[in-house]
Amino acid sequence: MVKNIAFIGLGHMGGYMAANLVKAGHQVTGFDLSAPALEAAIKAGVNIAESGAQAVTDADVVITMLPAGRHVIGAFEGPDGLLAAAAKGTLFLECSTIAVDDAHTVHQMLSAAGHRGVDAPVSGGTTGAENGTLTFMVGGSDADFADAEVIFKDMGKRIVHCGGPGAGQAAKVCNNMILGVSMIAVSEAFVLGESLGLSNEALFEVASAATGQCWALTTNCPVPGPVPTSPANKNFEPGFAGALMAKDLGLAVQAVDAAGVQARLGVAAEKIYRDFAAGEGARKDFSGIINEIRAASAAAKPAN
Ligand code: NAD
Repeated sequence: MVKNIAFIGLGHMGGYMAANLVKAGHQVTGFDLSAPALEAAIKAGVNIAESGAQAVTDADVVITMLPAGRHVIGAFEGPDGLLAAAAKGTLFLECSTIAVDDAHTVHQMLSAAGHRGVDAPVSGGTTGAENGTLTFMVGGSDADFADAEVIFKDMGKRIVHCGGPGAGQAAKVCNNMILGVSMIAVSEAFVLGESLGLSNEALFEVASAATGQCWALTTNCPVPGPVPTSPANKNFEPGFAGALMAKDLGLAVQAVDAAGVQARLGVAAEKIYRDFAAGEGARKDFSGIINEIRAASAAAKPAN
């Protein structure tokens, strides 16, 4: 069914997602603070509002795709904010990646303002956003999920109801903690193999069909050659940038601390990626961490 959809945050992800909603026949009104983002959205057929509040006034559904929790809460609150401007009962789909605690705050703000909503972070990157093949991890009530799912299907392929409020963000941080740890493990194994005289091809042939098999190895392989489409073949052009991995692991560690969980590898991975993203790694694919491991190993080798 055609809906009036307000789309707030038309950046790398939101721009493509809004374009796919237009293609699916919805009336999409967007807002962003960046002029280039607005120009691209106009070309994709998005109507542009003068403010976020104006964009949501006549909306049945409001989608937010903003950088971090503070942007979402900042856009929602206050007399000029999205919550005050939307009609009571509007369905909010909060798709940014934010802290689990912030997601709970957002749900509380929505119900206090008389609205409905789900937290629904995505995976699949800008390619998934462009091709409409994103995975949505959704937290919220059964009724809100059912109404949100039909909209998500116009932007994604897998829509998973993870549980009640906050469960979507919980699934996102847990998944990305696995990914960060496993990419470091795969990279360390290749560097160890190299120093033992084992070829990268031989290690890949064994591990990709053995118990070391994982996405970091078989899809996003950090050495060039075995997986021709992996960023390692293109000077570590992202892909999934180091800055985003550092951000997501920061959110994971925030959740680990709040829950009092012993996650020593997750905590170590967060520090490793925070250091990586403090330099050029921010803009490189996160699999570029292998170069840091190689450099640190070379520096630590005793001189002969
Ligand atoms: P982005 O920085 O490209 O886009 C965010 C947009 O929000 C920007 O255009 C910015 O101008 C706009 N914005 C900020 N404050 C605003 C406000 N108050 N009102 C209107 N617009 C505002 O980021 P992105 O890569 O599109 O990522 C968006 C979210 O999706 C992030 O939370 C990110 O972690 C998550 N994510 C990104 C990827 C990816 O590969 N890029 C993958 C999965 C999830």
